[in-house]
Amino acid sequence: MSGRRPVELAVEAVRYSVEGHTLLHGVDLAARPGETVGVVGPNGSGKTTLLRCVYGALRPTAGRVLLDGADAAGLGAKDRARRVAVVPQDAAGTFGLTVREVVAMGRSPHKRFWEQDGPDDVRRVAEALETVGAGDFADRPYDGLSGGERQRALVARALVQDPGLLALDEPTNHLDIRYQLEVLGLVRALPATALLVLHDLNLAASYCDRLYVLSGGRVAASGTPAQVLTEELLAEVYGVRTRVTTHPATAAPNIVYLPPGGHRAEGGGPGRAG
Ligand code: ADP
Repeated sequence: MSGRRPVELAVEAVRYSVEGHTLLHGVDLAARPGETVGVVGPNGSGKTTLLRCVYGALRPTAGRVLLDGADAAGLGAKDRARRVAVVPQDAAGTFGLTVREVVAMGRSPHKRFWEQDGPDDVRRVAEALETVGAGDFADRPYDGLSGGERQRALVARALVQDPGLLALDEPTNHLDIRYQLEVLGLVRALPATALLVLHDLNLAASYCDRLYVLSGGRVAASGTPAQVLTEELLAEVYGVRTRVTTHPATAAPNIVYLPPGGHRAEGGGPGRAG
C-alpha cells in the first residue's frame, strides 16, 4: 500500500453522554505518527464509544479529537475519510454488493463522486483482496460471508483507503488464529497510525506499542504493555486472577489466567482440581 503520511492523534478530555448516561468521563489519549495503540478494557467500559468519537461517528459532548493538531470536528466527511479509515465490527449498507465492490468503496474518498474506478483503483482493490486472503470470495455477495470473511473484507477496504490513521474495533474477534496474526501483523507493518480495540490481552501485548486500559469510561492505566498489564491492574479492572511473566520469545508480557476464587493451589500442588 502506498499510504499517506501517518497522523498524530490526540484525544483531549473527551466526554460523551447520551440520554442522561455518561459513557466517557474525560478521556485523554495520544498516538504518535505510526504508533500502534491498543484500547483494552472490560465489556461496557467505553472502548467502542471512544473509537467512534475518534473516527467521527459520534461527536464528543465535551473535549476534542485532534488529527495532526487540527480539531476533527471541523473536517467534512470526505476530508475525514481521506485521513481516517475504519474497520468496524460489521458494515452496514452493503445490500447486495460483492466483496470486491465493498472493498472498492475504500477508494471513494480519493475520487470525485461521478468518477469511475480507474485501472489503478482496480489494481489496488485486487491487491488488497489478495493481501487479506479474500481473493477466492471476492465476487460473492458480502452479506453471505462468514464473520471472519467479512472482517477480512473490511480490512481490505481500509487498506485501499490509504489512511493516515486506522481505527479498528475488535478486528480479530471473528478470525481464526492464523488470520488474527496476519491481520495484526499487517496493521503493525502499515505506515499509518493505528488505534485498535482488542479483547485478547496477549495479542494486545505482542502487537501494540502502547495500551490504554478503560474502566467505567475512564482511563485506568496507560503505557507500554509491560507497564500496564500487571497482575494488580488486571485484578482491579477485570476482577480476574492472573500470572504475568515476560514471554521468552517476544519479550512482551504473557498472561496466564487462573481459575477464579483461589481454588487452585499455585504451582499445581494439592487442591488442584481434577
Ligand atoms: P465497550 O466497547 O467497552 O464494550 P461501549 O463503548 O460499547 O463499551 O459501551 C459503553 C457503555 O455504554 C455500555 O455499558 C453500553 O451499554 C452503554 N451504552 C452504549 N450506548 C448507549 C446509549 N445509547 N444509551 C445508554 N447507554 C449506552
